Amino acid sequence: MAFKERVFSGVQPTGNLHLGNYLGAIVKFVALQEHYDCIYCVVDLHAITVWQDPAELPRAIREVTAAFIACGVDPKKHIVFNQSQVAEHAELAWIFNCVARLGWLNRMTQFKEKAGKDRENASVGLYAYPTLMAADILVYRATHVPVGEDQKQHLELSRDIAQKFNNDFRASIHAHGHGEAFFPLPEPLIQGPATRVMSLRDGTKKMSKSDASDYSRINLTDDADAIAQKIRKAKTDPEPLPHEEKGLEQRPEADNLVGIYAALADTSRAQVLAQFGGAQFSVFKTALIDLLVGKLAPVNAEMRRLIADPTYIDHVLADGAARAQRIAAETMKAVKDIVGFVHR
Ligand code: ATP
Ligand code: MG
Repeated sequence: MAFKERVFSGVQPTGNLHLGNYLGAIVKFVALQEHYDCIYCVVDLHAITVWQDPAELPRAIREVTAAFIACGVDPKKHIVFNQSQVAEHAELAWIFNCVARLGWLNRMTQFKEKAGKDRENASVGLYAYPTLMAADILVYRATHVPVGEDQKQHLELSRDIAQKFNNDFRASIHAHGHGEAFFPLPEPLIQGPATRVMSLRDGTKKMSKSDASDYSRINLTDDADAIAQKIRKAKTDPEPLPHEEKGLEQRPEADNLVGIYAALADTSRAQVLAQFGGAQFSVFKTALIDLLVGKLAPVNAEMRRLIADPTYIDHVLADGAARAQRIAAETMKAVKDIVGFVHR
């Protein structure tokens, strides 16, 4: 059976949005709007898998919403909402908890990284994070999921869950008139030169909201001075830039900065090196700062304007949630029939 094409993705309200979120996810969200129906979610249920201060969380939810809109997501043509307003996400996640196997979740590297050494003390939610993510996507029967490279493993798990559900309930799916398969196997969209933006202090570590050093990342709320200072201080090596991509191997910091430039300029690493090969980092960094400030200053200004109007943001989220829920409720009704629950 052919599924209606639909895009779903989410961003957690867990702190400062950064250049990795922008290039790895949000820029892609914007581009996909042209050819797909898109659902973009502020995943607050995911955020609380690690402690969030209840006095801070609403601000963070509104900030991610503002970032989506400021970057060019259209909440009228598409759907923007926060996850906790559509209870069907959590409901389907429970069913998926009963489909997914412990052995599958035990392999998830994000859990291992986030739980760290004190695994016994991690929340059950942090462990079950990927089954909720599968539910987020599949409650809309979404077919395409733009994410950064770090989410590839979770997407593969979502596909495994969809596949096992389709197999386990094959007869019931068929009996209820849904053909051979109820859920599509969602495809990850992980493309371009910046699918994994690295820390500015350590080219072997992912740029992340949770890094203690603010110099490790460019925040979407950073002004021009902060951007310039962070790029000037960004770790590099003493060699000039190579002329060819092969010369970036074993040079993670150089590779990262060239990748960021390529993504911002909508070109390739090879093209950037054709222009800057042989240049010193001081020269390249100046060009990178200009490019970054040019792209991020308008986003920054628009975010500030939107954040100053929480009534508007809350209206966007409520309207998006109502439209999302209509789709999600329909899926859950069918899932209940398929599983064999008696319902109204
Ligand atoms: P946290 O540390 O709380 O997990 P995060 O920075 O990883 O925060 P998420 O909300 O988990 O942000 O992820 C939102 C989207 O941004 C996902 O699609 C994720 O793959 C992408 N993303 C996160 N970090 C990077 C990065 N460094 N480079 C490219 N994409 C990234
Ligand atoms: Mg993350």
